[in-house]
Amino acid sequence: MEEIRRIHRPGRREFLRDCVGADEPVLLTGLLDDWPAMGKWTPEFFEREGEGKRVRIEYGNVLQDTPRFSEWELGPYLRHIRGRTVSPGEPAPYLAYFDLFKYFPELRKDVDFSYWKGRIRIPIGWIGPSGSFTGLHYDIAPNLFAQFHGSKEFTFYPPGQSRYLYPGRKYDIGSVLSEVDSRRPDPVRFPLFGKARGVKTVVEAGQMLFTPAGWWHQVLGLETSISVSCFGFGIKDTLTRGLPGAFLHGLHGMGLYRKGNCACHMQKGAER
Ligand SMILES: [Zn+2]
Repeated sequence: MEEIRRIHRPGRREFLRDCVGADEPVLLTGLLDDWPAMGKWTPEFFEREGEGKRVRIEYGNVLQDTPRFSEWELGPYLRHIRGRTVSPGEPAPYLAYFDLFKYFPELRKDVDFSYWKGRIRIPIGWIGPSGSFTGLHYDIAPNLFAQFHGSKEFTFYPPGQSRYLYPGRKYDIGSVLSEVDSRRPDPVRFPLFGKARGVKTVVEAGQMLFTPAGWWHQVLGLETSISVSCFGFGIKDTLTRGLPGAFLHGLHGMGLYRKGNCACHMQKGAER
């Protein structure tokens, strides 16, 4: 695969056939034009609406590095990151894996993930500065990602390249994490990583991206960025992966499964 396919405003049936059925990432254009979130969900909007709301910020790439978190108020966090570029090597403060609609239930009406009609939908917000980075991993359910402000660069590797990407045992909900820090790959520990061939695509504000389950990807914020991704668990996904995943996540929360080796807890204290 040389380039990610693009489809302009597919209908639901076309989406299910040409994206979900084709089992390949696809960039979707023209769909967000009608969403109220577009143009409304700016850093200034969340800065204003976020006063007094406390959120958990992660620092750097928690998927491959030691996870670090701290609590911020959303308003001051947005003032802190607005227009800020994080230099390479500096851990970006990132409001990742954000339970946006728990904090802002009234904003549900601004988005439309009806492509996932009949599936269990799990929406997640992402707000971060240029330089925010989510390391290499794959997810257990297909995902629809909507970019409202700024842009992000995705790098994809098909499931067939798993043997070059070192799936590890570090725990994260709904994902399998690579052991490779792809921005500083260690050729001695991970000699096969050099054979992996990724495909990059930039998702601009107003565009969506479909990611199939099992496709490896990493994500870099190119500007101050606001996005929502939404997993769509079908019946089979739910039975084979969603419910077992929820069970393991419960065990993990109780310290009974992969304790001390995860992307969601600091070594001592703070819970995601
Ligand atoms: Zn954890």
